Amino acid sequence: MKVMKFGGSSLATAEKFNQVVALIESQQQPLCAVFSAPQGITNDLVVLIELINQQQDLTHQLDLISQQLLTISADCTNLRAEFDVSKSQQQTAGLLDQLRIWAQGCAMIGHCPPKTAAQMLSTGEKFSTLLMATLLRTVHPVTVLDPKLFICTEDDSIEPKVDLVQSTAAFKQKYSALTDLSVMPGFYGASPEGDLITLGRNGSDYSAAVLAVCVAAQACEIWTDVDGIYNVDPRLVAEAQLIEQMSYQEAMELSYFGAKVLHPKTITPLAQHGIQCQIKNTLNPAHPGTLISAETAKQRVVKAISNLSDVAMLNVCGPGMKGMVGMAARVFQAMSEANISVILISQSSSEYSISFCVPGSESQRAIRHLENAFRLELKNGLLEPIACQQNLAIITLIGDRMHQQKGTASRFFSALSHARVNIIAIAQDSSERSISAVVRAKRIDDALVICHQQLFLKKPRIDAFLIGCGTVGRELIQQINKQQNWLQEQNIDLKLVGIANSRQCLLQGDGIDLDDWEAQLQACTEGLSLERLRQFVRDAHLTNPVIIDCTSNQDIAMSYLRYLEANFHVVTANKKANTDRLAYYHQLQAMAAKKQRRFLYETNVGAGLPVIDNLQSLLRAGDELLQFEGILSGSLSFIFGEIHQGLSLSEATLKARDLGYTEPNPAEDLNGLDVARKVLVIAREAGMALELSDIDLQPVVPQALADLTDADEFMAQLPAYDAEFQQLIDRAEDQQQKLRYVAIIQGGQCAVKIQSVAADHPLYEIEAGENALAINTQYYQPKPFIIRGYGAGAAVTAAGLFGDVLRTLSWEQEH
Ligand code: ADP
Ligand code: ASP
Ligand code: MG
Repeated sequence: MKVMKFGGSSLATAEKFNQVVALIESQQQPLCAVFSAPQGITNDLVVLIELINQQQDLTHQLDLISQQLLTISADCTNLRAEFDVSKSQQQTAGLLDQLRIWAQGCAMIGHCPPKTAAQMLSTGEKFSTLLMATLLRTVHPVTVLDPKLFICTEDDSIEPKVDLVQSTAAFKQKYSALTDLSVMPGFYGASPEGDLITLGRNGSDYSAAVLAVCVAAQACEIWTDVDGIYNVDPRLVAEAQLIEQMSYQEAMELSYFGAKVLHPKTITPLAQHGIQCQIKNTLNPAHPGTLISAETAKQRVVKAISNLSDVAMLNVCGPGMKGMVGMAARVFQAMSEANISVILISQSSSEYSISFCVPGSESQRAIRHLENAFRLELKNGLLEPIACQQNLAIITLIGDRMHQQKGTASRFFSALSHARVNIIAIAQDSSERSISAVVRAKRIDDALVICHQQLFLKKPRIDAFLIGCGTVGRELIQQINKQQNWLQEQNIDLKLVGIANSRQCLLQGDGIDLDDWEAQLQACTEGLSLERLRQFVRDAHLTNPVIIDCTSNQDIAMSYLRYLEANFHVVTANKKANTDRLAYYHQLQAMAAKKQRRFLYETNVGAGLPVIDNLQSLLRAGDELLQFEGILSGSLSFIFGEIHQGLSLSEATLKARDLGYTEPNPAEDLNGLDVARKVLVIAREAGMALELSDIDLQPVVPQALADLTDADEFMAQLPAYDAEFQQLIDRAEDQQQKLRYVAIIQGGQCAVKIQSVAADHPLYEIEAGENALAINTQYYQPKPFIIRGYGAGAAVTAAGLFGDVLRTLSWEQEH
């Protein structure tokens, strides 16, 4: 014998009823089937009762319920020729008439007494069962079981417990002989006084478990609209994974801490009687579903994460608590007398306070009962006024084998901290089968996503927003696209979720299709704003957002502080932020540290060359920068290489410009400002308190020429300077030296200028276009530490940015 329970989700329409009939017919008999109300009907009945209590008009609500039930019943005619539609419509009309009479009666007295409310609430289940019996009778004899005759509850609370011994005895007495096929409405039974009583929302699962015990079934199957139990609520986490097998205890904890798929009381009777439970999908019956039995599948230590919303936390504290025997007992006695279930308890070790959670809807009643129970202590100041925090939620890790494994709690809390979710209280059950954290309700979705990511997928995620679609931005998009397979292999989930240019901003929470980003961006009408990105991050539950600035825009550089404050990491190729006022530079560093976000700018100096990271590593290890000399501009390096090949300064500049190595206006290279910015970044990194204006900057060409803002004018005037410049070249070559445009840090000062270097100088050998950095530190002397290679170009710069983006992942290890 087995019991099959079909939830409201399996009974939403006549077609679904028909599918369930087919499913039942395909099973081996004997069997008992338990039915919920059609989807949504119980909610509608709850609203009806609320309307009564608020003394409002009921017509619309009653019509809504009637129409839904009559439609399902009438639609069955089209599905089964033998179906007795008139009988069915008559039965439905009978239930609806009764409902109307109760509703109108209650309306007259202005409220709905609990007993009548229970009668009304059970209408949906009664409807489903009568309709299913009529459908099934077209093929089989069917017995309709009445739960009011044998499901006996121990009390008349909102979530009553069923007395299994009494229920089994009553069942045996009432139903000594069953047909092979029996059906029963779920959700209700009889109170100790013999009145109809509901078993709490979602209670049909519990009804099925009780019936399974009464008929000594081998199995109890819960048929619903998902393939089984997932390791996290599949509505909230798209990557939720199905659990094939779990133990009774695990299932109990999971449902207790909020997994809607099972009513919390369902498992206890089944576990007591060793009846296995299966969760199955009505829409996908071939799928094996989830098996719940005494065994658990061994492979995973943490089996699932559950969440319970709408929780309030009460705090009883005060000097009177300390050392006073029986305080905890009195607190919980008060709750038990008020019939309020306590979800979770945490007591501080000083015994100064007890905090515990109750359903949010019960918090006011809980406060009143506590105030009543501790009247004297409150009056005498032995207790502080009862505090209550509303709008909380509980996130719980569940797994039988968690006690065997060290470090689970720490991974759990570090995941929460990674999602920047504040933990309000913690509790662990004594069997270490569950660990719970109380958090703010509005952060629960983020908490679930990140805990699932870090405990199950173990696949860290980066949600990147790229600003600036020039050559570097485009190249980076291409690299991210090209590297997707490699990222998969490394188990890294790097998605570009935003791309913005100066006018438009494309956002896509599950990642932009990078083969088609340009067309999509073109179609966008709205531009980039911090507020828009913040909202987007909140809505899409992104936990590791990274801004990648591929522009050289001053305004964007000045917005980093707010991005960091809003919990974005910032990765930038733009030097404007780090070379703005020193105070801003310090603010950025401080904000990144405060918010535990990364601010990374490796590409500010030497593009993809590993300069900043190396320098930071040395400084972290106690090293000190003594002296620095470097060629920091790829375009000037090219021009200076060419002049020693015999070209004049203007010829070399023209060649570099034609090859695309210079800015559109080469004056911006020859004025040395870009080099000055780079050396400032290095100097500040080394701890020097310098502003851009402190740098002794000597442009390649006279200042008047360097200041020209019109490219054509600059190129036209440059040849006039060739002769003078040629003298510098000749002088250097006469002494077997070469000219280099270098940045120097020495004695606490920075300079940027032309320098003539001899053959033994580290910068002598550097070839046209290369960058080179000679760094003398306490650890690297007298020979400097040399970094050399191409320090410009879209590919190497994008690669440097790519590297920085991946470094945002190491946040977790470093903090
Ligand atoms: P029924 O109407 O069949 O009783 P419910 O709506 O009560 O169905 O429960 C099934 C729903 O529970 C699923 O559709 C799913 O959205 C939700 N759910 C929440 N947590 C889980 C979980 N961990 N595994 C599976 N389903 C879950
Ligand atoms: N119909 C009831 C409810 O919606 C019982 C159930 O579906 O389990 O709560
Ligand atoms: Mg349910």
